[in-house]
Amino acid sequence: MGIFSGLDGFKMTFGKLFDDRVTGEYKGGRNDDEKRDKPVRMHGRHVLNRYEDGMEKCIGCELCAGVCPANCIYVRGADNPIDDPVSPGERYGFVYEINYLRCIHCDLCVEACPTQAITESKMFEFSFENRQDAIYTKAELVVDDDGLPQHLPWEDWRPGEDEHTSAWMRATSPSGAAEYVGKVAWSGELGYGVRAPERGQTADVADTADAPAAADDAHGGGHH
Ligand code: SF4
Ligand code: SF4
Repeated sequence: MGIFSGLDGFKMTFGKLFDDRVTGEYKGGRNDDEKRDKPVRMHGRHVLNRYEDGMEKCIGCELCAGVCPANCIYVRGADNPIDDPVSPGERYGFVYEINYLRCIHCDLCVEACPTQAITESKMFEFSFENRQDAIYTKAELVVDDDGLPQHLPWEDWRPGEDEHTSAWMRATSPSGAAEYVGKVAWSGELGYGVRAPERGQTADVADTADAPAAADDAHGGGHH
């Protein structure tokens, strides 16, 4: 009896070999032709942004490092050289590192940054063979002369993926004070200029039932 029960088990197993698979291949590996589309606000590897004139946005304030729950950002600020400043103002990020062995992509650093210097791209297809590659340096994080993320050898970028690296957050904050609805607080970026508000972040959007009130008639502080 026991032998026959065992054979029944094998019969079941072998039968399943020819069924359609429930799981699929991971799309996004280096050898795959196509990747799945990313959610608009997905958090991937970071970039350090620059202003339209090429100056760096980071002022070395260390707020991002202070807020990071994973303790994976290391920043050191330095005084800008008077003759050749790196960023507008007094200080700039002299050293900037993110340890991707620790980062949980929570984006708290992005929210803390007062100058929108640090944002996240949608790139998450990167793997390292050594600890040194996993700790991204400022030289690797800062965007190139077109305002696009650098493509590092161990990252799998596809055409178009490096655009709109900071698209997840175009600071118009309709869920905050009504008088700021539709007012773009995002500073211009190298290669992009000032980004327009997203759908739902401006009073011009009238096709949703809960469209936010226009800034001019919302000074009473009321919310819908
Ligand atoms: S995304 Fe979160 S965990 Fe990663 S560096 Fe920023 S604050 Fe730290
Ligand atoms: S990235 Fe932003 S929060 Fe972090 S040190 Fe630079 S300016 Fe400050």
